[in-house]
Amino acid sequence: MKRALNFNAGPAALPFEVLEKAKEEWLNYNGTGMSILELSHRSTEFESVLNNAKRLLAELLDIPDTHEVLFLQGGASLQFTMVPYNLITEEKKRGYYVLTGVWSEKAMDEAKKLGDPKTAASAKAMNYTLIPSIDDIQMGDDAAYLHITSNNTIYGTQWTSFPVTGSIPLVADMSSDILSRPVDISKFGVIYGGAQKNLGPSGVTVVIIKKDLIREDASHLPTMLNYHTYYKNNSLYNTPPSFAIYLLSLVLQWTKDKGGISGIEKINRQKADLLYKTIDESEGFYSGHAEKPFRSHMNVTFTLKNEEMTKKFLSFAKEEGFIGLNGHRSIGGCRASIYNAIPLAHCERLADFMLRFKSRN
Ligand code: PMP
Repeated sequence: MKRALNFNAGPAALPFEVLEKAKEEWLNYNGTGMSILELSHRSTEFESVLNNAKRLLAELLDIPDTHEVLFLQGGASLQFTMVPYNLITEEKKRGYYVLTGVWSEKAMDEAKKLGDPKTAASAKAMNYTLIPSIDDIQMGDDAAYLHITSNNTIYGTQWTSFPVTGSIPLVADMSSDILSRPVDISKFGVIYGGAQKNLGPSGVTVVIIKKDLIREDASHLPTMLNYHTYYKNNSLYNTPPSFAIYLLSLVLQWTKDKGGISGIEKINRQKADLLYKTIDESEGFYSGHAEKPFRSHMNVTFTLKNEEMTKKFLSFAKEEGFIGLNGHRSIGGCRASIYNAIPLAHCERLADFMLRFKSRN
């Protein structure tokens, strides 16, 4: 079957094998005579789907026992609120934010509604073409946490090493690069991400949280905004996004079958290297947005010499069947999102198209 050349930023392409498996099980999940959509979230079948997803994620990311996996709703955007709600205390009353793009700005904006967060470092003046140096990060004694965005989906920059924050919890929005490379989870207080890029469909948000940050005494928080609610109830306090969790479990199994994180990372690197090489060897016909050391392996952002040529590129690309190559509406230009499920062959087709377009223009 012909698959679209889908470079969407999220929701994004899912592995074909996962879609096939879901189709196979669609009308009769595991001999129940029901679709997964029709199962009670209190059934043993669904509980084992959820526990299997947790187990696979823990295995793939090597999550230590000190941390817990929670499944929530509301997207990464709700985590912008939940992080300050749950982590700020009377004594440690401030979140510190490293600004590396629109999403970290939005995260900080939400924290402003609850208190007075501070900027720990910012790449805004550099038009978000880089990640600030770890040495430039500044925090006070009142720091409840340091928040970073590990991959900047819109600008195409990515952290390669992470700040060491000692006793201050490091919080990372990993929406657009979770599961794409190995990460030492023990160094993080909270990791969160919407599933719709590397993990599965939209609708479920994954939170990996250090257990000692889950406060039992936070009963003043609204129930659904309190991490403890999800922890205490194995993410089954209320009806969870059951279909999204099911599909997540299939994506995690697929990732394992592909050789786990190290296998996936190898292919991701090949895909990104190919596209950046095409940009770099184009003699300025294409220029990358991100400075080289900060280039994302997930979102390759570039422009052409002017807006007219960019428009022509995007319209020719569309004619050839490429989907989702336009940059985010806030910055324009072009962006190829090459998450785990994008096959190398699709990146080869794109590189070939970029070369042909250049030679004709
Ligand atoms: N953070 C990052 C890095 C993102 O890329 C996105 C979505 N593109 C978000 C947050 C917002 O996620 P959601 O739509 O799940 O709220």
